[in-house]
Amino acid sequence: MKSTFKLFRIAGIAIGIHYTWLFALIFFSWTLAMVYFPSNYPGWSSLMYWIMGIIGALLIFVSVLVHELAHSLVSKTRGTQVSSITLFILGGASNLDEEPERPAVEFIIAIVGPATSLILGAIFFAITHFNIDPTTPLYAIISYLSIINIYLGIFNLLPGFPLDGGRVLRSLLWGSTGSLAKATDIASIVGQFFGWAFIALGVYLMISVNFIAGLWFTFIGWFLNSSADASRKEVALRERLGIIKVKELMNENVATINPETTVQNMVTNIFRKQHGRAVPVCKDGKMVGIATISDIKKVKQEKWATTPVKKIMTTKPLYTVAPEDNLNKALLLIAKYDVNQVLINNQGKCGGLLSRADVIRLIQMNTELGIK
Ligand SMILES: [Zn+2]
Repeated sequence: MKSTFKLFRIAGIAIGIHYTWLFALIFFSWTLAMVYFPSNYPGWSSLMYWIMGIIGALLIFVSVLVHELAHSLVSKTRGTQVSSITLFILGGASNLDEEPERPAVEFIIAIVGPATSLILGAIFFAITHFNIDPTTPLYAIISYLSIINIYLGIFNLLPGFPLDGGRVLRSLLWGSTGSLAKATDIASIVGQFFGWAFIALGVYLMISVNFIAGLWFTFIGWFLNSSADASRKEVALRERLGIIKVKELMNENVATINPETTVQNMVTNIFRKQHGRAVPVCKDGKMVGIATISDIKKVKQEKWATTPVKKIMTTKPLYTVAPEDNLNKALLLIAKYDVNQVLINNQGKCGGLLSRADVIRLIQMNTELGIK
């Protein structure tokens, strides 16, 4: 994900923002400074409204982050690693390294986010009832925090996949039917229903109430709709790849290269003659690294003839799968680390590699031949 900027880490989880989030920051600051604060707290200066608007928009960021952290930290205690959290225009996404293995685990991971938001909302709501002057910025911020956290909790509880409420629904269906695929299907259809409902509501608002608010609802609806559809396809694909083993796709006679070979030799004999973009580097049958087209770019062309492959190859991290692993595991590694291929470690021996292109080719072939 090159469109994401990494900000910092909390409990080992990388926190990043997607560039679309910057548009949300501007939009929310503007709405808060021009509409929300002036109509609820009249009589402040316009500078004050803008300061409050920007603080308010940043607090949406913090509220979404706390919500996502709740998901991530609970996932970690349940044994599912979380590598990163990304905030984008419509909220946040915790990038779990794998799907939860049992319905009960998915249920807890899903419900804890909205629960955290609702509890926070309730706490801020309670604080507004303390002795705070209701015309002050402090009161305005606390009251606003209670509202956005309650909204965040309620919106995410809508029972359409991939929203949290949809995950709760899916875990219940999964638990009662025993089929993750069937549960995902139903929960995504409900998700698409909510998507269409938001679009209809948005169009109505655009025409007869407030164009901008209507546009926003339509946008959320479109997003819900398309992500429900994408999630369903992704789960179906994972199910299919989950039953195919790496060894069924691996090429036994794949070329490997010795670390002492020169870069020039590798370019001439491997990359020019074969279609791949990477080659496993092996010594005495053992895997020692991987050399890719990107690695070659590290040295000038004049030096190719005198530079051994071991000088440019990648030695760590090496992402490997075993021949007995399924393709889903390979694809998850490829996606998670944004690499083009994984090495196949055949009980410590050099077993070749499996590329993203190999998996895509298999999917295309299966689709063309109608193989399920
Ligand atoms: Zn959530």
